[in-house]
Amino acid sequence: MLEDEISSDLTEFTYFRGRVALAAILRAMGIRRGEQVAIQAFTCVAVPEAILSVGAEPVYVDVDRGGINMDPTSLASRLTPATKVVVVQHTFGFPAPIQQIQEVAARSGTAVVEDCAHTICTTSAGKRVGRFGAASFYSFEASKPLFAGIGGSAITTDPVIAAELRHHYTHLSPPRLSVQAAILAMYAAYRIAYRPITYWKVRRLYRALVRTGIIKGNYNKIKQDRPADDFDRKMGEWQRLLLRRGLRQLEKQTAHRLWVAEQYRSMITHPQIEHISASEDTTPVLARYPLVTDRKTDLLRQATEAKVELADFYATPIHPLDAGDLPSVGYQPGCCPEAETMTQRIVSLPINLHVGAKQLRHAARFINSFR
Ligand SMILES: *Cc1c(COP(=O)(O)O)cnc(C)c1O
Repeated sequence: MLEDEISSDLTEFTYFRGRVALAAILRAMGIRRGEQVAIQAFTCVAVPEAILSVGAEPVYVDVDRGGINMDPTSLASRLTPATKVVVVQHTFGFPAPIQQIQEVAARSGTAVVEDCAHTICTTSAGKRVGRFGAASFYSFEASKPLFAGIGGSAITTDPVIAAELRHHYTHLSPPRLSVQAAILAMYAAYRIAYRPITYWKVRRLYRALVRTGIIKGNYNKIKQDRPADDFDRKMGEWQRLLLRRGLRQLEKQTAHRLWVAEQYRSMITHPQIEHISASEDTTPVLARYPLVTDRKTDLLRQATEAKVELADFYATPIHPLDAGDLPSVGYQPGCCPEAETMTQRIVSLPINLHVGAKQLRHAARFINSFR
């Protein structure tokens, strides 16, 4: 059964966060200081953070025009002999052109790792994403398809990488008990408080708590010479139970996600708001439903007033870094113009079990009547 197969995949190597899983993969592949790892712009800071934590250098690749996934042509132009790995992100759950990217990468002996933070069940040419590259990783934060408080997994079909991962894994310890308790409290609070209609309130509260330092934000400045000790942590046992519980609901979740996306696609018909279409022979199982508009700021402002959950990410090429902080992860503003344009145009609607027929209609009506 699909659920069983995915469950055993995703519970073998479980880490404190998705970025820790990626760092473990890079280490297992022998990536060293001075080597490069290519990633797309229009991503989350977690990705370059993982690369920097092993001493390697992130190299940024643009997305395709009007799209949200890596452009194979841009990749070809940015590969150098020092680029050992390309991390391919399936943004929002839309599959990247993985076969084209694999061809480009193979020509220069670059390995492919998949970033499956936004999807577990998307398929491309009948095959589940996460099974194309040498290794893949997942994330279990609130905004991801499977919520287990926080956390990540690594998978691989390569026996050498698997052996290295296994060896490294035995040296990791779980987070301190106080940290585990805080994660469980956050999990419970989110479960109780989050509904599409409370989104803006919960978001304001979360940001206020991060500012006061009561909870940790998404971005801890890491120093290249002294990676945060978070990178030596695996997932705690309590959270592994949450993860297993989430995995048991995967088929139900997936069916619901497909249904919600289909509804948004047919119900939202505003002439100035575009959908993103899936490429041929793929079945995207989305984390959120993206929409593209030239009037992002107006749309977001009105959504707050109408209490419609509408997210603004990624609002910067390396979310959530603003222009001044981008060079700290090696991103030179202007180097990926298509990704930067997309940050000005993208918004997204929720797709989760709390989005039922009523919430869908409310969101679609709001968008269609946007002026
Ligand atoms: C969330 C996310 C990750 C991993 O995030 P963690 O917070 O480390 O679990 C990686 N890549 C992308 C694209 C993400 O959105």
